[in-house]
Amino acid sequence: MIKLGMRSSKKRKMMEKGIHADGFRELLIFSLMASCLCGISASAQDLSLVEQKVHKLSDTVWWIEPVPAYGGNIAVSAGEDGILMVDDQLMPLTDDIKEAVAGIQQGKVDFLVNSHYHYDHAGGNAAFGEESLIIAHHSVRTRLLEGREAGSNFREEPHPAEAIPVLTFKENVTFHWNGEDIDVIYLGNASHTDGDAVIFFQESNVIHTGDQYVNLNGYPFIDLPVGGSATGLRDNVAAMLAMIDDETKIIPGHGPMTTKTELQAYHDRIAATIDIVEKQKSAGKSLDDIQETGLPDEYSKFTGFMTIPTWIQQVFSSLND
Ligand SMILES: [Zn+2]
Repeated sequence: MIKLGMRSSKKRKMMEKGIHADGFRELLIFSLMASCLCGISASAQDLSLVEQKVHKLSDTVWWIEPVPAYGGNIAVSAGEDGILMVDDQLMPLTDDIKEAVAGIQQGKVDFLVNSHYHYDHAGGNAAFGEESLIIAHHSVRTRLLEGREAGSNFREEPHPAEAIPVLTFKENVTFHWNGEDIDVIYLGNASHTDGDAVIFFQESNVIHTGDQYVNLNGYPFIDLPVGGSATGLRDNVAAMLAMIDDETKIIPGHGPMTTKTELQAYHDRIAATIDIVEKQKSAGKSLDDIQETGLPDEYSKFTGFMTIPTWIQQVFSSLND
């Protein structure tokens, strides 16, 4: 395990490198607004505190864990063929990420895969795009070209060209890289966003789920403004479960690495709570009424980073009338 922290000289360099004061302030303000995405209380978000911890998961796959988890989890495949990385957190954290990757293997990142477009997963694209080929679902490219950060939050300036994926797919794509197949798969439904991919390192038996699975003891966030869907997420998680086995190492979008048993439990409580909301909606109850009723105790204790009324609202909005 390697620990890296952001030094004060690095903060100065960030300012010099075009993360100018205004942009940085906006970023922090945005992070505060959108803190529900990564599950950290708004008052605690100081990116200078973040350390990138590196965990080896197989001969060729590593997990880079930001602590505290202000950015998304990163996966790295490194070996004879070179380096492939999944996600890049936020721009101010990219120097530390590059240092962490260099600690695994020297050389440029050849391929950078975005699990989805959100600012805390693809926010560092511009720091890699000049020398890395960025690959993502086609909707990720669309959302980044719109200047979208997450949901209805937009950047003031467009993303620079180097932050935009140059290779996109609509269903899936497979890398034959470092001795294994690495499948990048759109699971068929709009879900956390309208363009989520899971990345399955077949031989290593490691999967990076993106934010379709956030392991922070709560319900998922659904990006409704881009067409995200709670029922789509439920069905995609079921598809993930069908792909993996009890030995699979699961890297969630945020939070600690976990196993199929935990992912199954997450799926089951999402499915059960969707059913609860659906029955009431079908019976003609209003959103207010359903929120007022709430969820049974066994489901209402999962308040990781979103309130239960917010989850009910996201489910309600995802259900067809
Ligand atoms: Zn996200």
